[in-house]
Amino acid sequence: MGVLKVGLAGIGAQMQQNLLPALLQTPGIEIVGACDSEAARAGAIHRSVPGIRTTDSVAAMVDTMSLDAIVMACPPHLHWELAISAMQRGISVFVERPPCSTLDELRLLVDMARQCGVRTGVGMNLRFSRPIRQLRELTASETFGNTSSIQLTHYAHQPRTALPGHDTALRSVLLGHALQSIDLAVTFGRGELIDVQSHVRRYGEALTVEAECRFASGATATLLLGTTLPHFEFHIKLIGSNSATAELDDRGDITLRGAEPGSYAEIDAQTPFDFGPDRGGYDSELHRFFEACRTRTRFEADFYSLLPTYRIVEAICDADRATEREHDSAAATREGWHISPPAGTGLGR
Ligand code: NAD
Repeated sequence: MGVLKVGLAGIGAQMQQNLLPALLQTPGIEIVGACDSEAARAGAIHRSVPGIRTTDSVAAMVDTMSLDAIVMACPPHLHWELAISAMQRGISVFVERPPCSTLDELRLLVDMARQCGVRTGVGMNLRFSRPIRQLRELTASETFGNTSSIQLTHYAHQPRTALPGHDTALRSVLLGHALQSIDLAVTFGRGELIDVQSHVRRYGEALTVEAECRFASGATATLLLGTTLPHFEFHIKLIGSNSATAELDDRGDITLRGAEPGSYAEIDAQTPFDFGPDRGGYDSELHRFFEACRTRTRFEADFYSLLPTYRIVEAICDADRATEREHDSAAATREGWHISPPAGTGLGR
């Protein structure tokens, strides 16, 4: 396959600040068109890629521009349908996260990609960021052993309400903010997800989620996620089967401790949340996605790879719904509410 013809959809902040600078450095692709529902934003692409065709509709772009692939950074609730319509035209899709709102929708995306024989990718740039790549290398070493425990903290102050396309604020926290951290638990858990136990606590509009995930590899991941802090906070600690530990915080410091007393090393890996194409992992993820398109192989962060991450999200939401129902029914019983049986059925209490 020669140079890949690529269209861009949604020329907003993420496309302009992070994806486009990385795309301009990606070999073997040609950006041939751009679209945004706001024509002026679509036109902004000409500052970086002069002369290409622009439109205000994704349908018009995929129908008329003979694309091999499309890169989308639209409002997330639109991604699912737009991705399906592109795949149905045989176009490979790279979609900013989150690609959809539910596990069922993700399963449909996976099926559609298989049926249409296209490559897919999701913007999980943290997986490809420099410090996470370093952590992955360190924990893959024999000295570290198998990762047996993953402890992950991810706090922010939003979202506090349900985002468009989501049924609850909890789902918006999990998909809109904590998706990459949940995904890291899956990445380091390296194996089939067996079980998820979780508990959600609410403090006004803010909430915290405590979840424990077990993997077939023997690893467990303890997640502490929340929107109760006014600032962003991230920390991951990995414990290996040889009693070594590796920790990364949001300042980008990796701390390694070996099994030997006093064995200690610090690496300044740069914060994983620093933006910019290389530091944030955008260069690496897009380079690998287009390489997968060219070689017709799987891209590591494709729709399929996100199934365990979405299973965790769904398990947390299901458990929370069940707890809410129990609370409602306990409250109803306490306050003496009961549903009267229809007259004459003899089903009185
Ligand atoms: P944004 O609002 O700045 O950009 C979205 C763009 O999509 C806008 O220009 C809007 O006009 C356009 N748009 C809306 N409907 C459209 C349609 N039907 N067809 C074509 N274009 C349409 O939002 P953003 O911050 O750039 O986020 C875009 C995506 O990137 C989201 O999925 C978000 O979760 C993800 N993301 C953003 C960031 C970030 O730092 N901004 C980081 C990570 C992920």
